[in-house]
Amino acid sequence: MLFTLVVIYGLMVGSFLNVCIYRLPRGESVVKPRSRCPHCGHQLTVRENIPVLSYLFLHGKCSSCKASISPRYVLVEILTATVFLIAYWQFGPTLDFLFFTGFLCLVIVITFIDLDHQIIPNQLLLVGIIPGLYPLFRDGWGAYKLYLVGALGLGSGFYAIAVLGQLAFRKESMGMGDVKYAALIGLILGWQSGIVATALAFVSASILFLVLMPFKKIAFGQRIPFGPFLSLGTFFALMWGSDIIHWYLKQVF
Ligand SMILES: [Zn+2]
Repeated sequence: MLFTLVVIYGLMVGSFLNVCIYRLPRGESVVKPRSRCPHCGHQLTVRENIPVLSYLFLHGKCSSCKASISPRYVLVEILTATVFLIAYWQFGPTLDFLFFTGFLCLVIVITFIDLDHQIIPNQLLLVGIIPGLYPLFRDGWGAYKLYLVGALGLGSGFYAIAVLGQLAFRKESMGMGDVKYAALIGLILGWQSGIVATALAFVSASILFLVLMPFKKIAFGQRIPFGPFLSLGTFFALMWGSDIIHWYLKQVF
């Protein structure tokens, strides 16, 4: 029963995240006006605005101009609901659940804006400082230093990579948006899970690179948005960070 509610809640939040992903880079308000068809401007009715179901009822087309609606809207809704479900399964009805899902919403918005526009807006990174204060409130000042070290460590590490990349390829290979995003992830996760997130990001980016290279879809030194990989690593580190660290230490020692 509770799990069903979490899924419905996740789908509704996902629907709002779609609005943020579309409107924030265009400098539009995310509160008003009501959602419109991007092709003909037809204002969506309440029935046309239900997550997932409306898309199925309308067969993926605008009811007014019949232009097809991107299946990505549904994908973001289902992705958000899945993330919420896994977080609830992991943390139950706790403050951790509330703050981590809040941060993961931001992660989802950043990921898709980075995919669409190759930018990570500064305002979104600043909003992330709010959930970044949660460990201070939960664990006190003593433990919070681990999170500040995480922010400084990942931020300066990525800055060094950006500078070295610039020197090696004579063009920007990692943007400042990625550097700031890495610092924020360090603040949220602390340095230990922060390293797990970054390692997972580099591993997943390398795997994709090796898969795509034979198809000539990608060239060495080409700039790829690294934000989505950081997001993927962050999700796994947030959900299973300490499990991954224990597993890794067992293999090494
Ligand atoms: Zn339309």
